[in-house]
Amino acid sequence: MSLVERDLAVIWHPYTQMKTALPPVPIVRGEGACLYDENGKRYIDGVSSWWVNIHGHAHPYIAQKVAEQLKKLEHVMFAGFTHEGAVELAERLLAIIPNNQKKVFYSDNGSTAVEVAMKMCLQYWHNTGNDRTKILAFKDAYHGDTFGAMAVSGRSAFTAPFDPLLFEVEFIDLPNENNIQDLKSQISNLGSELACFIFEPLVQGTAGMIMYKPEHLNELMTHCRKEGVLMIADEIFTGFGRTGKLFATDYVTEQPDMMCFSKGLTGGTMALGITTCTQQVYDAFLSDDKLKTLFHGHSFTANPVACSAALASLDLTLQDSTMQNISRIITMHSQFAERIKHHPKIRTTRQTGTILAMEWETGSNTSYFSNLRDRLYTYFLDAGIILRPLGNILYILPPYCITDDELTYIYRKIEQALEDI
Ligand SMILES: *Cc1c(COP(=O)(O)O)cnc(C)c1O
Repeated sequence: MSLVERDLAVIWHPYTQMKTALPPVPIVRGEGACLYDENGKRYIDGVSSWWVNIHGHAHPYIAQKVAEQLKKLEHVMFAGFTHEGAVELAERLLAIIPNNQKKVFYSDNGSTAVEVAMKMCLQYWHNTGNDRTKILAFKDAYHGDTFGAMAVSGRSAFTAPFDPLLFEVEFIDLPNENNIQDLKSQISNLGSELACFIFEPLVQGTAGMIMYKPEHLNELMTHCRKEGVLMIADEIFTGFGRTGKLFATDYVTEQPDMMCFSKGLTGGTMALGITTCTQQVYDAFLSDDKLKTLFHGHSFTANPVACSAALASLDLTLQDSTMQNISRIITMHSQFAERIKHHPKIRTTRQTGTILAMEWETGSNTSYFSNLRDRLYTYFLDAGIILRPLGNILYILPPYCITDDELTYIYRKIEQALEDI
């Protein structure tokens, strides 16, 4: 039996419509921005393997650091114990994120980082004797697939089977110059009931690479600050250079109360989640009263091997050559966008940093499930490129090490797709 046949016999893949989906592509190795299947066919990873890979696959430096760590200490429980990697990573991360962030809470993926942030917020108000219990989020937000993270995500076909069980959340539109005043009064009206505001800064990834302006985010944040609403910046997707700066919150002057990280945190090598918070939040849990404890901890909290991958990835991220690669991608993306934006099949293009999105004309069918999406996906896969459109929105967000030739090849195939599809 082939690997694919064995897979189909025993595996249930995520986000896959089982009866009609294409069989999975068996990948045997990765190098740089490319993945290779068992027949040696090359695929350029145009979406950084679900947005996690920032420095390329099987990066030798990360591999070496992980291997060294594995021989020293693979894991130790993090309740009552600590280790060098966790401490160093916390120190180094706190040094590069907004300087009001003072404590690091580890978990093991993005959804759990969000769960932790929300539990911290709600319990912050509980511990300080307030009854703020409502959560504010953007319509069409995406914060993860666990129940709490799903609840603060927009209601959609993805959440529909669970909608009746998801806790109530106040959803507001993304800000723009026309609605910003209105959004601020909506926040004021809820004011003293609001526990927190969770948002994806500048780019809503899963919603379809929907982008909004830093000045509008900043204005909303200033307003939340005034109303005493805690702010959670979900940088799980936008963190570690994706938007052109190290973090999307570097584009605003206001500072969030909490931040969530995962995905690029380990360079896409291992699962790790981080929630950071301010001293003020931490102090609400610092007590002689046992009941003020945050009772939350995952078995693999602060896994030493994952921490070593994150430290290695951070070394690479902070190298000049990485920032130069990011600028190079930004320039190439914008030149390409300029070239295709007036094509009759392109409704609009948008770009933030290394993320370039192109909205295709669809006629009437714009849903995630439209068959244009499947045709585009297959077209690029055949051409040796992994692009995974969100409905009619095609996007590129490559590992920063992608070469000019690889990126140019992706652009050329997109232009050809505009003729062929
Ligand atoms: C991917 C993502 C998450 C969830 O992270 P997982 O590791 O997949 O659970 C949360 N928030 C944002 C903005 C994301 O893009």
